[in-house]
Amino acid sequence: MKIKEIHVYQVDLPLVEGRYTWSDGRHVDVFDSTVVEIVTDGELSGIGEVCPLGPFYLPAYGGGARAGIAELAPQLIGLDPTNLTLINTVMDTALLGHPYVKSAIDMACWDLLGKASGRPVCDLLGGRQGESVVLYRAISQRPADEMADNVAKYRDEGYRRFQLKVGGDPIDDIARIRATSAVLEAGERLVADANTGWLVGDAIRVCNAVADVDVYIEQPCISYDHSLIVRRQTQLPFVLDENIDGLNALLKAYSDLAMDVINLKISKVGGLSKARLIRDLCASLQIPMTIEDSWGGDIVTAAIAHLAHSTPERFRFSSTDFNSYVTVKNAIGAPQRDNGTMSAGTEPGLGVTLDRDSLGDAVAVHR
Ligand code: MG
Repeated sequence: MKIKEIHVYQVDLPLVEGRYTWSDGRHVDVFDSTVVEIVTDGELSGIGEVCPLGPFYLPAYGGGARAGIAELAPQLIGLDPTNLTLINTVMDTALLGHPYVKSAIDMACWDLLGKASGRPVCDLLGGRQGESVVLYRAISQRPADEMADNVAKYRDEGYRRFQLKVGGDPIDDIARIRATSAVLEAGERLVADANTGWLVGDAIRVCNAVADVDVYIEQPCISYDHSLIVRRQTQLPFVLDENIDGLNALLKAYSDLAMDVINLKISKVGGLSKARLIRDLCASLQIPMTIEDSWGGDIVTAAIAHLAHSTPERFRFSSTDFNSYVTVKNAIGAPQRDNGTMSAGTEPGLGVTLDRDSLGDAVAVHR
């Protein structure tokens, strides 16, 4: 099997809630998602998706994904897409860094490997573990009482794990954590994700003020060193996300005892191949993971489900069903939330097919 063409689609993903807001007032109303279809010289084609969380969450943006794929495509035409080691070696040689650019291509190659072998991707990533994957709901940053109301609303939809978007004024954030923790029910889990928005002093003030609350603190500061200062001054359990952008960062953080949980995002580390490597290492090191992506629609949600569902249950902290946050479908057959959980598909590959009506024409065809 050889790659014959790479088709690139751009799709806007508006939000059910209208706007998603996190630290420092950053917000997105419509996500800019890129879908790739790898067409082979045989019958099969594979699909992947990458959707940055706006241009100011990680060093990634929608137009950059498409420009980067145009840069890589000539190197990939003619290669065997099921040879994932070769595909990733060629991508890493042709383009230094830019992991998110490579993610959709790697994802589409996994889809092809699954289709070619007749197995769902979760089988190829290690095998299905347990019945289903437990989801969390991100609670967009709002005044404290509205966030508490939204926890109750999403509980009614089946969620039992909630991630508050904080990283604003420390006084407001303390109120947000207290108001939401007050409405939690037995067995529910709360994370306060500052998304790098706090200075060290702000973060320590918040951690001190909520020291009696059963809450995880996620990624308080923009730099690893600053987050580590906070980590060493709080007893609260600690998640690192933005700073864990690859294997080297994970190894450093592990040796520093810098976190209890990591957030593993597929596109942040360059695709399913590299995410699997980090996932397997974390499982070996007994580090639980939130397994997700920066954002996405149906294709990203399917990929998350396959990676998460093939992870030992003990190390699955939570995952995300991004396709329930947006109003546009980009594929058919993606996992649908069921009582706060989702499951990887059982069809070969990712188990999704492109929704061509919503995608429209390709914005680029590389051949
Ligand atoms: Mg996070």
